[in-house]
Amino acid sequence: MHSFHYHNGELHCEDVSLQTIADTYGTPTYVYSANTFRDHYTRLDAALSEVDHAIEYAVKANSNISVLRLLAELGSGFDIVSGGELYRVIKAGGDPAKCTFAGVGKTREEIEYALKQGIYCFNAESEAEVVFIDKVAGELGLVAPVALRVNPNVDAKTHKYISTGKSENKFGIDFEFIRDAYGRAAKLQNIKLRGLQMHIGSQLTSVTPFIEAVEKVAPLAADLKGLYDIEFFSIGGGVGIVYDESLDSGKPEWWANQLEDKRPLTIEQYCAGILPHLKGLGLKILVEPGRYIAGNAGVMLTRCLYEKKGTAKTFKVVDAGMNDLIRPALYEGHHDIAPVREPADDTTETVDVVGPICETGDFFCQNRPLPNFDEGDVIALLSAGAYGYVMASNYNTRGLPAEILVDGSESKVVRPRQTVEDIVAAELV
Ligand SMILES: *Cc1c(COP(=O)(O)O)cnc(C)c1O
Repeated sequence: MHSFHYHNGELHCEDVSLQTIADTYGTPTYVYSANTFRDHYTRLDAALSEVDHAIEYAVKANSNISVLRLLAELGSGFDIVSGGELYRVIKAGGDPAKCTFAGVGKTREEIEYALKQGIYCFNAESEAEVVFIDKVAGELGLVAPVALRVNPNVDAKTHKYISTGKSENKFGIDFEFIRDAYGRAAKLQNIKLRGLQMHIGSQLTSVTPFIEAVEKVAPLAADLKGLYDIEFFSIGGGVGIVYDESLDSGKPEWWANQLEDKRPLTIEQYCAGILPHLKGLGLKILVEPGRYIAGNAGVMLTRCLYEKKGTAKTFKVVDAGMNDLIRPALYEGHHDIAPVREPADDTTETVDVVGPICETGDFFCQNRPLPNFDEGDVIALLSAGAYGYVMASNYNTRGLPAEILVDGSESKVVRPRQTVEDIVAAELV
């Protein structure tokens, strides 16, 4: 669920009109709903209440410092994938002692920084990395808390670019090798084995692969607890969100009206599916949600510049491009599109919505029936709160969009639009 809805003929985020935001701050602009972030976090926290648990929000999904601050205020921990993300968490008032550090390619600089900041755990993805963390910790006279990431070889049945739990993916240590890897890691002087971790992929819309993975890996977690006294089992992130009927899915009625076998995965269903396999372990259960927390908590606003009718198609050219929101080009990601002024009726026109970038892949939809909108009108690309702004680039020397955080009737610029002067400043040598 989320807090984007039509009110008085205009799309709103909570109590703020998106037309007003577009007119005040320009476009393209990302708008986030603080209360949607809070709602997602608290619902997950409640659904996990029957086990000792911690939520490690995956910072890479949306790393704006104001977003991190509001999650830190709720008590969230953070799953980071770089030293830069740890720096952001600290700036946001987050607690390093609640941070886990993922990623296959941690550098010496990052490991030293994380050790000095006292993070909760390094989630190591290869034995070579464990050996290196041991060496760096030894040089600093510190002991590094480490978990190994196991690759359970389970098919997440998601887009191939966001599937991470199969043996052919670069992530984690093969299930077949993991016990021996723990045995060798346990002998290192400057390592404390603290947990076990896995993450099988992103945007999973069925609970089945999650259950398959925990069924396979929970006995291993139990054994490792007995052998090395580990304290946690992190089951990763990956819970999928609604993209296809994003606007309607903001309302509780929409969920209630879905047929049982068609209803998208809910957080309650996810927890009900996995917890029976985890309850008896006596381990702290960590989850690392990114998209589930942030995805439907944000939209990107863009203005229609031109309409072009060709022989084959009608193109609506907008002022945002793939550099601002790359998911359609990178993962064939779908974003629902809603005009900010509420359509007067149900008539639609089949169009391609395209950006200004010199790439054929620069489109937000193709051959999609959409309510009519004209030049000058603002549209919202929905479900853009995760893997949106964080993946934006300066391609074509375009400034990064502005980011706005709405909280009730308040809206705040949490990052101003980047100017061309900002972009070139470091090159004026
Ligand atoms: C990206 C990532 C996540 C978050 O994935 P979502 O699909 O956004 O929930 C969690 N854990 C790790 C290790 C990741 O790389």
